[in-house]
Amino acid sequence: MSKYTHYDVLVLGSGPAGLTAAIYASRANLSVMVLEGHQPGGQLTITTEVDNFPGFPEGILGPQLMENIRKQAQRFGAETKFERAEKVDFSKRPFTVEGESQVYTADAVIISTGASARLLGLESESRLMGHGVSACATCDGFFFTDKEIIVVGGGDSAMEEATFLTRFASKVHVVHRRDQFRASKIMVKKAQENPKINFILNHNIDEILGDDHVTGVRLVNTQTGEKHEMPIDGVFLAIGHVPNTQIFDGLEKNDNGYLITKPGSTYTNIEGVFACGDVQDDTYRQAITAAGSGCMAALDAERWLEEQK
Ligand code: NAP
Repeated sequence: MSKYTHYDVLVLGSGPAGLTAAIYASRANLSVMVLEGHQPGGQLTITTEVDNFPGFPEGILGPQLMENIRKQAQRFGAETKFERAEKVDFSKRPFTVEGESQVYTADAVIISTGASARLLGLESESRLMGHGVSACATCDGFFFTDKEIIVVGGGDSAMEEATFLTRFASKVHVVHRRDQFRASKIMVKKAQENPKINFILNHNIDEILGDDHVTGVRLVNTQTGEKHEMPIDGVFLAIGHVPNTQIFDGLEKNDNGYLITKPGSTYTNIEGVFACGDVQDDTYRQAITAAGSGCMAALDAERWLEEQK
């Protein structure tokens, strides 16, 4: 148990944004607690190789990168805890955050809760999640060795995951609702050139079939509305993300639920509450931009706290 329940800065979330904020804030001699959430390290811990984070010419594994950043924050005194924020009260200061085991108060809060995989919203999808339906190729790909699977989506994630899954699966079908791709040309080309990948365009998943595990899907043609069934062993969802902002009632959000920050800063509409990383960014969504905005949030918080004295 920590000796403090009150901190100068409470950071919610432990991806590149939150942990970079923790490095900067603790290095500025502020007391810092990071509530890491249920997926410490965030989305990078479910990726394999990170090739585009500056400073690693040979690339680095996502979990390793996050472990390094966490250690760096701890070196300056930041505390981290495997705990999720359940409820917040930003209506009075100090701010209150209820974790699963303890209540915290803080003079400033940095929100870096990121985003989670978007789901199709089918009953069969939630029922069969973990039984042939997955939203994490790197976590579950191995279970589909020599199986035939579907990857849903037409963005970079879908292309990357389809390509990655060919290491295990005998065949990967990319099901995309249009015939144009959101993914970058180079990633589409790589997937198209892979002999194990087949594209099913202008189709979406109408239903996932199976009682206790996936046995097939019913596809719907998005142009004609025609439906047909297809036997399949697994379905991987790669259709983007939704921001983790459900518990933040008083904060301004855009139509997609992302927190709104004042342009060029990490200030939210509540003074003393700052937001950084994917939770407030539905444009760039990169580890390096998240880390950059985490740095901004710590500097904004530090200056704001200084002004309050
Ligand atoms: P994304 O770019 O938002 O693409 C989501 C895809 O899912 C789109 O093709 C979209 O179709 C489809 N989709 C969304 N909702 C759907 C639904 N209900 N039913 C069927 N299809 C649906 O998300 P992302 O691929 O996860 O990428 C997110 C960001 O991370 C991007 O900026 C991307 O460049 C980046 N990223 C980069 C890399 C890399 O460079 N190595 C790898 C992965 C991700 P529509 O196109 O029709 O909207």
